[in-house]
Amino acid sequence: MRTISYIAVHCTASPQSWGVKELQKVFEQRGFLRPGYHYVITADGEVHLMQPEGLISNGVKGFNKETINVAYVGGIDAKGKGIDNRTDAQKVSMRKLLSELHTRYPHAKIQGHRDFSPDTNHNGVVDPWERIKECPCFDVIPEYADL
Ligand SMILES: [Zn+2]
Repeated sequence: MRTISYIAVHCTASPQSWGVKELQKVFEQRGFLRPGYHYVITADGEVHLMQPEGLISNGVKGFNKETINVAYVGGIDAKGKGIDNRTDAQKVSMRKLLSELHTRYPHAKIQGHRDFSPDTNHNGVVDPWERIKECPCFDVIPEYADL
């Protein structure tokens, strides 16, 4: 197994009705050789494996070699604007999945995609104005700090 330093949380930035098939199609259209995520949680709370953890996925530019990428389906409103629209079922499944992953990779840091943005003022945290994207549209680090 490769060394895992990060467990990155994403939203798919797609309609919340989407399943794995629709996501796979978009990755193929973008020319990705690998899917963007290892795990995807659909609105019904079901966890889908898109590829084994040992393989590198295409979620966070520059960090994929050491990262497991996890996404909930959703994250945009009807106009395409970023929004935290996780269903209760997705919240429950995400917490359970992250807890399992963290047990297996205890040294990996759980953070949102946007937390990989450069800390331009070097104060040790990625401030909201430093984010190069909003994904996954909620604050991952405090939400799972207890895991
Ligand atoms: Zn992302």
